[in-house]
Parts: sequence; structure tokens; C-alpha cells
Amino acid sequence: MAGMIPRPFIDDLLVRVDIVDLIDSHLPLKKSGSNYTARCPFHTEKTPSFAVTRSKQLFHCFGCGAGGNAISFLMDFSHLSFVEAIEDLASFVGIEVPRESSTATFKKSTATTSFKVLEQAASFYVEQLRNNPEAKDAVDYLKNRGVSGEVAQEFHIGFAPNSWDSLNKQFKTQELINAGLAIAKESGGAYDRFRGRVVFPIRDRRGRVTGFGGRVLDDSLPKYLNSPETDVFHKGKEVYGLYELLSSNAKPDRILVVEGYMDVIALAQFGLNYSVAALGTATSKDHLELLFRFSSEIVLCFDGDKAGREASWRAVSAAFPCLRDGRQIKIMQLPEGVDPDNLIREIGLENFEQKISESQALSDYFFERLSLGLNLSDIEGRAALINKAKSYLEKLPNGIFQELMQNKLKVLSKVETLDIIKQSTENNTRNRHTKGQADTKLSIIRLTISLLLQNPELVEIIEDKNINWALINLPGVDLLKKIVEIITTNPNVSLPCLLEYFRNTDQEKHIKIMMNHEFYISGAEVKEEFSGAIDRLIRQGTDNRLTQLIDKSRESGLNVQQQKELSTLLAGQK
Ligand SMILES: [Zn+2]
Repeated sequence: MAGMIPRPFIDDLLVRVDIVDLIDSHLPLKKSGSNYTARCPFHTEKTPSFAVTRSKQLFHCFGCGAGGNAISFLMDFSHLSFVEAIEDLASFVGIEVPRESSTATFKKSTATTSFKVLEQAASFYVEQLRNNPEAKDAVDYLKNRGVSGEVAQEFHIGFAPNSWDSLNKQFKTQELINAGLAIAKESGGAYDRFRGRVVFPIRDRRGRVTGFGGRVLDDSLPKYLNSPETDVFHKGKEVYGLYELLSSNAKPDRILVVEGYMDVIALAQFGLNYSVAALGTATSKDHLELLFRFSSEIVLCFDGDKAGREASWRAVSAAFPCLRDGRQIKIMQLPEGVDPDNLIREIGLENFEQKISESQALSDYFFERLSLGLNLSDIEGRAALINKAKSYLEKLPNGIFQELMQNKLKVLSKVETLDIIKQSTENNTRNRHTKGQADTKLSIIRLTISLLLQNPELVEIIEDKNINWALINLPGVDLLKKIVEIITTNPNVSLPCLLEYFRNTDQEKHIKIMMNHEFYISGAEVKEEFSGAIDRLIRQGTDNRLTQLIDKSRESGLNVQQQKELSTLLAGQK
């Protein structure tokens, strides 16, 4: 994805996002006074010293010094690059990242056309299900599965007629191919991809149709067919039903991951509206990261057959790198031959939800599965278990959960001294953060910057005082000047936006600390404190300059201009 992201977009993005919501979707926060707190995800701790401040739109850990704005959080927490973090944040607030490059513009315009074609195709399929007499089998199929008109409408379920060119008649061939709706023929032209199937539009988080899944109505193969990868459809990154889920509940307590479209729809039919399905692929780390943005608990509920059990294990294996403290994956194992669709039909919503709440914890499931076929009463069996578990446990992010898993392995393997988690990464993180810890006593320039950062409107006082910057040669004054300049040119700049001006500079670390310095004063006191600080700053600057000039006059004498400057300064010292 080439192309620069325009600065005004980043500023706008940071204004739209609420850092409390964002962080809370990754790491459950507790309200505590005017802050929100949690155990820090960046170092191991028992009592919470990680704080998020809504008024400042910043986070800060008093234990390890980690901190920053919403972008910094995503970069640190999800190990994303700057651009990835921007993309993530944009999708969190539901907007698209613009690019300042021609290839990107070209891609964007094909994508825009594809979205339009897909939307129109979805409406066409819905209309076919309603009005085309050929759709009778499809209607019967849905009725037999107990799908009501209401749910069919909610999910925009449609019917693709059994024809080679029902879409070709209405759209441009190349546009259909780009959107994944038609397959190019070698002889030129194209034919419809979905024929004689019930179709399920797959929507992204903004509600745009990105592709379709289709199910046959007879015994022909394949039973399920999905759109291919296109500019707008990425199987590995999207899940079916997420848009519908978030429309009814932006912050579900848990998300249930099932295997197919019909499971999602059947569960919705019974009032369970927090399930999604991977799109004919294994549940990936990307899928889980996506879901963890919206809920801290994910329950895997796959079919009770060999394929379903394998799918659970693959999903669990993929989940390890995402399992930070505060996130939970559970496994709901269904009896042989049972799938979520027929289970909820048989036992009803209440009992089904009861079963969800009895799902197996990931740690139990993991060790149970890993121990299969091993005899843990002999040494070889226990050694094999350690070997198998090692590569998984190493993938876990540092934290309490990682420690608990290691402890569990110690108990099972009866090896008390087991220490397979490399401590080096954690120690590095700790050292890196310790360096950045705030001094409790602020120098005058730090005090000025901290107050200004947290109260940009104070810039007025600086303007009123007409500072002669050239006179002030204290360390840090360039930084202060730069901040004054940014605030003057962007009067409404927020703290998180300000921070972006310093990303990847030597000053970033200092800025973060100063943004987070706690002042226990308010209103008029802030003004007074700041005004006093500026006065002291000016005086210190003048004093410095005076000393310099006096020294110089003693050593080598002053030129005319310097003599003038000296007398002006001395006149000011009353
Ligand atoms: Zn910390």
C-alpha cells in the first residue's frame, strides 16, 4: 500500500476516535476517578498502574513509562507499523484512509466501482429471491431452515438465478470480473460466478458488500462457494456477520465464532445475535485480532465432527500471539454430529447460552489436546509434552496469562524449575520504558511545556508577553518554540494530534512525559502558574544573556551592538 497518508487525515482521525473506547476494546478498563485504569499490557504487574485519560486522549503507565496517543497504543499493543496503526484506527472508526499517490487513486477508483457493482448485485439477488418464480427452491430451503422474512432481510439473503449471464446483461463485464462476480472466459467475455444458489452478501464493518457466499440447493458441488480475493474482498481479514452483529450491539460481551453462514443466520433467528463465521478459511490470527477489537471474549463453536475439531485446534493454535491479559478464548465443543444450527433448534436459546457459559477454558483445552496419546506418568511422556507446548507458550505475549500457562505446564510435567519463557524480551521492554520515566521535579522549561501542551489556549499568554526568543538559550527552548508554532498555526490542535508532530523524533519521549505530567491545579490557577513560569523563563533567559555579555566584556570586550544590548538588559533589571 504505497502513498503518503495526508497529515490532515491523521489529525481528523485522532479527533474522531475516543481512546477510552479504543483501548477498552483491547483491554478492559475500569473507571477510577477521572481516569480509566487497567493492569499494564506492556509490563507484568499485579496492581494497575496503566491509566487512560479521556480529556487528554492519552494513555500512560506509571509503572513502566509506556504512553502516547491512540496510534501509539495500537503500534505498541498490536505490534503494528505506523501505517498499519492508522489503517486499523480508521477501520475502528469506520472511515477509509486516503492516499496521496496515483496508483492508490487508481486502486481506489476500481474499489469504488466494485463496491457499487456488488451493492447493486446484492439488491438484484434479493429481488430475485422475492419475485423470480425460479427461486421457489431457495425460498423452500430457507423456510425449511426456519429463516423468517425478517432475518432474511436483515442479512440481505438473495437468490442467484441459474443462468450464465443474469448479471452480464446489466453490468460491464470487466467490472463484474473485478468485483469477483463473473469468471472470464478464455474466448473472451465472462459468465456469472453464482448460479442457482442462495447467496449471502458479506459486508465489511462499514456495511459495504465486499463479496458473496453461495449455497447450492441440490447435491451439486461445491456445496458452498465464496467470492475470490479481489481489491475489496479479503477472506483472511473479514468475517461473515460482523457488520450485522455490530449494528445491533457495538460492544458485545462475547463473540461466538461458528463455521458457516447458515449457523450465523440460524442463531440470529433464535435471538442470538453475536455470532460470526470465517469465510471458508481457517480462523486466522487476523480474524481473532479483528474480533478482539470489539469484545474481550471469543468462543469457538465449531461442528461436532472431525473437520470441526480440527478447525478448533487450528484456531486455538493461531490465537496464541493474540492472547494478552484481559483477552479470553473459550472452546465450546459440540457432541458428534451436532452443529450450532441444529443444537439451538433442539434446546432453545436459553439452554444454548447456558452451554456457551460452560465452554472450556483455552488452557484446559490446549493441554488436554496436547496430552492426547501421551503417557504423563512416565518421563518420556512429560518431556514430549514440554517439547510440544514450548513453541506455543513462547508465542504468548508477556503477562499473567503466560505465567499461568507456564505454571500449568510445570504442574503437568512435574518439572518445578521449568523456565521456557525467554525473559529477555520482557527485560528489554522494561529497560526501554524505565529510561523514559518522568522526573517528579520539573525544570522551568519542562513546566512551561507541560502546561502549554495540556492547555494549548495558554499560547495567548506567550503572544501577549512578546517574548524575545533569541535571548533565551536554555535547553529545551527550541522544543517550546516549535510547540508554540504548531499551536499558533493549528489553534484547535488536540494533545494526540500534537504528539504526531514528534513521532520518531528525539523529542517524542520527552513530549509524552510532559503531556502526562499531573497538575493538581485548575482554571485560573493554571493561567497564573503558566504566566509566572513564562516570566521566570524570560528572566532566566535574560540572566543567562547578561552573564554571557558580562563575561565577554571582561574577556574580549563588546562591540557596539552588544554594548547596547547589555545596557538595555541592565535597564530592565530593577
Ligand atoms: Zn507499564
